[in-house]
Amino acid sequence: MGLMSRVSISRLGFLLFIAITAPFCASATDVNSVRLGVHSDKTRFVMEMSEKPSYNIFFLPNPYRIVIDMQEVNWKASTLGGKGKGVIQAYRYGLFRKGTSRVVLDLNAPVKILRKVILPPSGGKPYRFFIDVQKTTKKIFAEAVKNTRRKQIASVPTIVLMVPEPKTGRKLRVVIDAGHGGIDPGATGRSGVYEKKLTLAVARKLSTILSANPRFKTILTRSDDTFLSLRERVNVARRNKSDLFISIHADSIGRSDIRGSTVYTLSENASDDEAAALAKANNKSDVIAGVDLEAQDDTVQGILIDLAQRETMNFSVKFAKLLIPEIAQSGMKVGGKSHRFAGFRVLKAPDVPSVLVELGYLSNHQDEKILKSSSGQMKLANSIAEAVEKYFKLIAP
Ligand SMILES: [Zn+2]
Repeated sequence: MGLMSRVSISRLGFLLFIAITAPFCASATDVNSVRLGVHSDKTRFVMEMSEKPSYNIFFLPNPYRIVIDMQEVNWKASTLGGKGKGVIQAYRYGLFRKGTSRVVLDLNAPVKILRKVILPPSGGKPYRFFIDVQKTTKKIFAEAVKNTRRKQIASVPTIVLMVPEPKTGRKLRVVIDAGHGGIDPGATGRSGVYEKKLTLAVARKLSTILSANPRFKTILTRSDDTFLSLRERVNVARRNKSDLFISIHADSIGRSDIRGSTVYTLSENASDDEAAALAKANNKSDVIAGVDLEAQDDTVQGILIDLAQRETMNFSVKFAKLLIPEIAQSGMKVGGKSHRFAGFRVLKAPDVPSVLVELGYLSNHQDEKILKSSSGQMKLANSIAEAVEKYFKLIAP
């Protein structure tokens, strides 16, 4: 990658590339309707909106997607997306980050954009934003991906981070990561509640509890309903030179009788099929939200990371082992295989001990009840806080 030549590595500096999309101002744009139309030669995506869109469109491969970023809008439609038509298999929309709303179109074939049209208000209709797409060859699609990627990489600032110095007399920093958010709702509960809402509620409570102890400083990766890529979550942990990273999730599966918490630490070899499937599902967050994984760098740092990561993983396991009995005391069920291993991308900070906790199953009635109630959330947050205190007593007395 040509990127390497533009940056220097000092000491064991790790490189992080943070993609920043064009700065849009928050606005009062309403999107009143989103729909698809199929014509003989094209599929049309239409948004009706109260203000003129200021947009940026790009393509993503594996799977084929079109991403439309625009100013932050208020979605007036009740769902987060819809069923597809024509070459558009499905679509979804939501907040991508402050100031930027995003639409992701999942495609069932490579396509090209025939035209993009913004019609000004007329005849009682607001602004109408049309995008017409048509099936094309893999080659033409790949060209379009390359072109948009080139433009994006040109606008990516490079940040060089150092391996943290040994901490001296400062507060212990705990990064609390509420899973999913914004355009990515996560799992859906039996009652229709979104995982992203529950993870944020527990994360906030945990932050409040820990902050009351003067030994700790907490940092939330997100404090509202915003999307963050997995890489950005890891970056929050690393940028803050944090001492512990806790990613909070809730699972959902096809069987309603399965319940209980599971704590995960990083491993390339998943401990079982279920763990592997779950990691795959959670790693999909970036796919759902239309993050360009290949424009981010994963390989450059490979060897350096390997060394640091092995040491870090031992600490992650220590914390996981303390966390499980605490959760069991909170009243949430903890099963036999309560500590598992899998390749979650969000656990890949090489220098920050990290765990991912699936608090319970939203597909189970009792678990969902606990997770939805403020008292249940509080008990879970307390149990995590208890484990955090025990962990630091153990490793930094
Ligand atoms: Zn999740």
